[in-house]
Amino acid sequence: MSEIHKFLFDGLPVRGVLVRLTDAWTEILQRRASAGKTGAYPEPVLNLLGEMVAAATLMQANIKFNGALILQIFGDGPVKLAVAEVQPDFGLRATATVIGDIAPQASLSELVNVGNEGKCAITLDPRSRLPGQQPYQGVVPLFGDQREKIEDLSKVLEHYMLQSEQLDTTLVLAADDKVAAGLLIQRLPMQGAGNLGGSAATQHNEDQIGVNEDYQRIAILASSLKREELLTLDVETILRRLFWEEALTRFEPLAGDAGPRFACSCSRERVSRMILGLGQDEAQSILAERGEVEVGCEFCGAQYRFDAIDVAQIFRKAGDVPPASSEVQ
Ligand SMILES: [Zn+2]
Repeated sequence: MSEIHKFLFDGLPVRGVLVRLTDAWTEILQRRASAGKTGAYPEPVLNLLGEMVAAATLMQANIKFNGALILQIFGDGPVKLAVAEVQPDFGLRATATVIGDIAPQASLSELVNVGNEGKCAITLDPRSRLPGQQPYQGVVPLFGDQREKIEDLSKVLEHYMLQSEQLDTTLVLAADDKVAAGLLIQRLPMQGAGNLGGSAATQHNEDQIGVNEDYQRIAILASSLKREELLTLDVETILRRLFWEEALTRFEPLAGDAGPRFACSCSRERVSRMILGLGQDEAQSILAERGEVEVGCEFCGAQYRFDAIDVAQIFRKAGDVPPASSEVQ
């Protein structure tokens, strides 16, 4: 069963999340494998996408935010786009667009950052977004300070967290065709009695970057977790092995209905709006060419078909004077 475990280190400004996705992850893979047009992911793509799903789940579990967390990589290699999306109730979905051949042991940069043009974006899309309001998005490159390519997704995301939140973060991620898992350790901003208000607290927080001894010790322990251990050991064993000398406060695990599971938010209604967005001219030309408008969901494999009558209805509902295609962009 897929599960999320949150914990605090007693008396220390450090918290952690451990995520282990099994059924939620394998359903994504099965749906992809049975999609006729694409077939199963090549192994290196599968590993990357699994790490992305684990990371997005960790980040969603680590924030208080009522909206979707979307982790995307815009690649300049054979993987053009990889997306992992996690809702606040931990419904999740993921997909990758692969064009071209993938070497069996392809590295992160061989997949998405061949010419150092690859980018990673983290988007927070609030549920109650007002019309015209843009979701918050942060974008980081896939290279370091010296433009050296980063070969670990965890390092890309640690860099993002430090930049966007001024918080030291340690991530360990791993995925195979059965499990996608991750461990996140983060230094908490200082709060409480000694906090005299915004600027002093912010300054103190920034002064603590990279130097808090408790965080450093725990981060080293977390980093000793091997990929193989993360994939094969159960949560209790991992936490005991890593942190047996630390006092942890554990929270109720999130699993089952409250935990991470596959869920796709696509619907016939949403696809109808997309067809409306194409404009009547474009929709009619597709109809003339193929007899129907067929739209497949990249995430879950659902196929939506609209014949001439369905399409006419979409535009009739939208108003008696449908917009010309040139006006809809
Ligand atoms: Zn779908």
